[in-house]
Amino acid sequence: MIDFKAFHKITYGLYIVCSGNSESGNGYISNTVFQVTSEPAQFAVCCNKDNYTSEFIEKYNNFSVSILHENSTKEIFGRFGYKSGKDFNKLEGMDVKYGETGVPIVRDESIAYLECKVIKQIDLGTHLMFIGELIDAQVLAENNEPITYAFYRTVKNGITPKNAPSYIDKSKLEAKPEVKQSVKYECTVCGYIHDEDEEGVKFADLPDDWKCPVCGADKEDFNKI
Ligand code: FE
Repeated sequence: MIDFKAFHKITYGLYIVCSGNSESGNGYISNTVFQVTSEPAQFAVCCNKDNYTSEFIEKYNNFSVSILHENSTKEIFGRFGYKSGKDFNKLEGMDVKYGETGVPIVRDESIAYLECKVIKQIDLGTHLMFIGELIDAQVLAENNEPITYAFYRTVKNGITPKNAPSYIDKSKLEAKPEVKQSVKYECTVCGYIHDEDEEGVKFADLPDDWKCPVCGADKEDFNKI
């Protein structure tokens, strides 16, 4: 029998992966970025086919990887991880530089970045894996540690969106029956749950400008469950 909790023992980082050029670009939060060869330096990224950014990577054959750190804010995870670039321009107002391939590279809240030219694409059913040859890499800051997925989940209470390659259905992880019935509100953007008993504060008593602690969504984006 597969114990899905074993999957959480695999370490990952969290990154903003972008593609496109100075006219048109998009980015999303990825945890599946990894170096696959040393000479030449090649990196892989795995992207859901429904993800808007995968269209850009296929079209422009480039991607950048901005490495997020432990103090990266919920706003950056909310902007790139839980919202679609089909609804708004995620790169607008950000500190973006354009690489040799023209790819947008987000420098906000990142400690380093990589720029890659796509040399191969592998169809994995739900996801596309892109292999890129490294064109450029720079360190942006030395004062923060790169964030791991485990840190995001445990310290920042982060939630894995359905499109992520490492998404696990909650029912596969939690076999424990619910003992008490508490009032809960769910974020419609990221799935974060505000449990009134656990938090010790009624949802109605939260201030109007309160934001989802995971993705930064407004209070009105929550539904009672
Ligand atoms: Fe949220």
